[in-house]
Amino acid sequence: MSQFQCNGDQLLVNGHPLNLLKYHAGQTPFYAYDRSVIAQKVRLLRHKLPTALKLHYAVKANPMPAVVNFMREQVDGLDVASGNELRTALNSGLDGHQISFAGPGKQSQELGMAVATQTTVNVESFNELEKLRNISDEIGVRARVAVRVNPNFELKSSGMKMGGGAQQFGVDAEQVPEMLQLISEYGLHYRGLHIFTGSQNLNEDSILTAHRGIFELATQLQQGAKSDIESLNIGGGLGIPYFPGETPIHLEAIGEQLNELMTQFSDQHGDCEIAMELGRYLVGDAGIYVCEVIDIKQSRGTEFIVVNGGLHQHLSASGNFGQVIRKNYPVAIGNKMQQAPEKPVQIVGPLCTPLDLLANKYKLPKVEIGDLVVIYQSGAYGYSASPRDFLSHPHPVEILI
Ligand SMILES: *Cc1c(COP(=O)(O)O)cnc(C)c1O
Repeated sequence: MSQFQCNGDQLLVNGHPLNLLKYHAGQTPFYAYDRSVIAQKVRLLRHKLPTALKLHYAVKANPMPAVVNFMREQVDGLDVASGNELRTALNSGLDGHQISFAGPGKQSQELGMAVATQTTVNVESFNELEKLRNISDEIGVRARVAVRVNPNFELKSSGMKMGGGAQQFGVDAEQVPEMLQLISEYGLHYRGLHIFTGSQNLNEDSILTAHRGIFELATQLQQGAKSDIESLNIGGGLGIPYFPGETPIHLEAIGEQLNELMTQFSDQHGDCEIAMELGRYLVGDAGIYVCEVIDIKQSRGTEFIVVNGGLHQHLSASGNFGQVIRKNYPVAIGNKMQQAPEKPVQIVGPLCTPLDLLANKYKLPKVEIGDLVVIYQSGAYGYSASPRDFLSHPHPVEILI
């Protein structure tokens, strides 16, 4: 993976060799994220996309507080998906005015946090709007609201569709005029629209089509609004390559078209702020997951490499996080970077389920006990998406009656 260099057999993370990082981390397994790779991604986006476009970081991709603090310096705003993520974002020192909160099923105390801190709430249902109105009245602070729109079109070739058709996300485009009317009646602070169509898209043409659709829909919906639009969040969805045959997105055409669309939009709507929110694209390829080989065994002609990490720590790499057909994440032996691959092996975790498979028929150099297995592309939806910690929602409790 070209974002990381090597020194001899050792993989380097921001210049640090893996054999030392293992001691730095104090244990295996560990996740390591490379600041320089993240900063490079931000520079690339700023270079290729219009200067006026604001970049937001979607905290749920990687909510590690140190990462969020670092991102806060790199981007123009943070998007959160739960009360705990909001707390992390606020603790980074960012003002609520630069934070927005989206996600279905927001609870009253989470909405209260948002209203009190002047965070923009991307409203996802009529019930949620009622709750917001009541909370605003109760604490005497006018809520800042944007409407998260479930568009009347889909993002084609998106790895994970999150808009179009029937969805738990957002308010159907055809119901938005009624919601805009209510926001105005309730005297809430209307911020604008949020249109997110899907995640993990590597197809430039479908992103271009989605962007045209988003601006057209926003223009049309804004006609029914009682107040000016201050903010248009066009979602993100830029993907990163994980599997053989996938290649990084070319941003040129996307940047050029956005330039035109933004110019047109601001001609009609004045200085509305336009933002793109990205998670995976910013941090995904900056992270690796490292575990250690504990055992090696042969079973009827197949070699099994047993490691001390597994699907409980990296659900996505096991193929159980939204993949229809299981594919391997890119893998390497991080202390044998110069050695040629030999024969295909199975890399499995310590859990008692056949699902605990980190790599299937993967060709690696000769593996020995103590070697460090590296899984690339693990900076987003890795540690925290596995799975009880996803979106930093509270854990359930247990009782015995
Ligand atoms: C998950 C999510 C994102 C981030 O998606 P990525 O694919 O990680 O860029 C952005 N916005 C919303 C509303 C989301 O739910």
